[in-house]
Amino acid sequence: MHLDVIGAGPAYTDRPGASGASYLLRLGDASVLLDIGQGSFARLAATIDPATLGAVVVSHLHPDHFIDLVALRHYLRWEQPRRRVRVIGPAGLDGRLDALHDEPGFSAAALDVETLTEGTFRVGSFEIQAVRVTHTASGFGFRVSEATPGGEPLTRPGLVYSGDCGRAEDLDVLARPGDTLLSEVSFGPGPVVPGAEHLDGPAVGDLATRVGAARVLLTHIQMGYDREATIESVRARFDGPVELVDPGYATTIPG
Ligand SMILES: [Zn+2]
Ligand SMILES: [Zn+2]
Repeated sequence: MHLDVIGAGPAYTDRPGASGASYLLRLGDASVLLDIGQGSFARLAATIDPATLGAVVVSHLHPDHFIDLVALRHYLRWEQPRRRVRVIGPAGLDGRLDALHDEPGFSAAALDVETLTEGTFRVGSFEIQAVRVTHTASGFGFRVSEATPGGEPLTRPGLVYSGDCGRAEDLDVLARPGDTLLSEVSFGPGPVVPGAEHLDGPAVGDLATRVGAARVLLTHIQMGYDREATIESVRARFDGPVELVDPGYATTIPG
């Protein structure tokens, strides 16, 4: 399974070239995109033809995780009018896009929007498990792995993506030993501002150790936090490899 970081930004940043949360997973010809935040569409389209995506899976209804669905919709409508893309996200996602454009049916013209619920589903050769996480009224974290041909679920190492998450323990049921943990670290080395419903480095480090993660990829750090201090705050609690990723970062997830 190949991971391309399309966007790693938080809701706002002073880093030129940064783009909002978006992570592309590919397995042979199959692909799935986790989130599609602000500015991510251009990098996505420079990486693969967005019309070929198996699905876009949206973690929660904050625009820094879904707003470039507008660009994807326009791209399909005007450049690829015979293609549609499956979008799986929390209830109400299509209504928000339609309202933004003040146009009923705006989403449905090019996107097949399905309601995300807890449980396991398939996108091509990917198996995706979704669990609710503390953040918004309907926020999710995901585990993505290669589906087994026989259909036995979730037996291979995979990628666990936190989405935005206010309680690291919510991800314990998702992660398995040997998984790669792609986690938000909005508040850098910490502490998290009370009520913010995000993670910091110590929480991510403890999580990685608890679940036996193979390695940690940190993302979604807010501006103003020191990157090295953030990485060190995870390393202080987790023995494995820790990196802070940026758009353009690519790696292979063993499976
Ligand atoms: Zn966010
Ligand atoms: Zn959020």
